[in-house]
Amino acid sequence: MAWRGLIEEYRDHLPVSAQTPVVTLLEGNTPLLPAPRLSEMVGASVYLKIEGANPTGSFKDRGMTMAISKAAEDGAKVVVCASTGNTSAAAAAYAARAGMTCAVLIPDGAIALGKLAQALILGAKVLQIRGNFDQALDLVRALPNHAPITVVNSINPYRIEGQKTASFEIIEALGDAPDYHFTPVGNAGNITAFWKGYREYLAAGRSTKNPKMMGFQAAGAAPIVLNHVVEKPETIATAIRIGNPASWQGAIAARDESGGVIDSVTDDEILAAYRLLATHESVFCEPASAASVAGLLKVGVDPGSTVVCALTGNGLKDPDRAISQIEVPTAVDATMGEILKELGV
Ligand SMILES: *Cc1c(COP(=O)(O)O)cnc(C)c1O
Repeated sequence: MAWRGLIEEYRDHLPVSAQTPVVTLLEGNTPLLPAPRLSEMVGASVYLKIEGANPTGSFKDRGMTMAISKAAEDGAKVVVCASTGNTSAAAAAYAARAGMTCAVLIPDGAIALGKLAQALILGAKVLQIRGNFDQALDLVRALPNHAPITVVNSINPYRIEGQKTASFEIIEALGDAPDYHFTPVGNAGNITAFWKGYREYLAAGRSTKNPKMMGFQAAGAAPIVLNHVVEKPETIATAIRIGNPASWQGAIAARDESGGVIDSVTDDEILAAYRLLATHESVFCEPASAASVAGLLKVGVDPGSTVVCALTGNGLKDPDRAISQIEVPTAVDATMGEILKELGV
């Protein structure tokens, strides 16, 4: 049967009822791609969960189909988030589908136009406030006290529920849970949700074990590793440039209950993994996504184990980063001889 979107597919595991209007773009069902060269490098069976294949290009769609469907059930007409990245793109898309207004509050100055382009073309009302990101988030959190508006930032509990379905898909594809699950950590909703999904499928008898949860922050934005808030987080991996994660406790629980680790990787390690994924496995992901593979290459795994690395977003979200990583093509004369010479054939 054709894929119906993750709410219909996993209805029994989600807090929805017959009264919930399902707002879907047929998210989920993303590829679990074997990674033969990475497997050889680390001596294990490595798979890549390609979350960039979701409708707006990141795993945020999984959470947003739930958040917007529940908002619709509550009669919401307006949703709001503070985001300069993938959350705003997903919120804009699902809100448009539901006929709702989507407001996006972004801080002054630091606008990544490439990512915001999605939210803008999808019709979001983007408000650039004269203030920083924390002020934008404070305003977003307080908005429901003043008007009938639903917040779809990471504090919205339904997002974790939608995001956990990626673990269900992994277990179905492998026939069991993997031994290790590597994932980037920003606000830590993603690692919290993956862990919830694994636990629920184990409890339902759909798997025989849980993986070790291996979360990786960027070295310049590693509050969980450092065990304190980072006031000015810095990393090229903008999707995980978070100094005070909303789901901090969820990440700690995932680590401790699974016997995993939360560690950090440098921007250089992230970029090396980002390039390796493209050249060795033909996957163009976001820099933040490559933190999972950078983590795998840093800490390694037991020989022969089964490993899943979550690749959270599509590389086309951040084309400037890709272009900064390669040699700009040089012009050649329009002659066959010149072209054959350049190609070395
Ligand atoms: C949101 C996001 C992350 C971080 O996920 P958290 O739930 O905030 O930890 C990582 N990569 C991409 C591409 C994202 O959009």
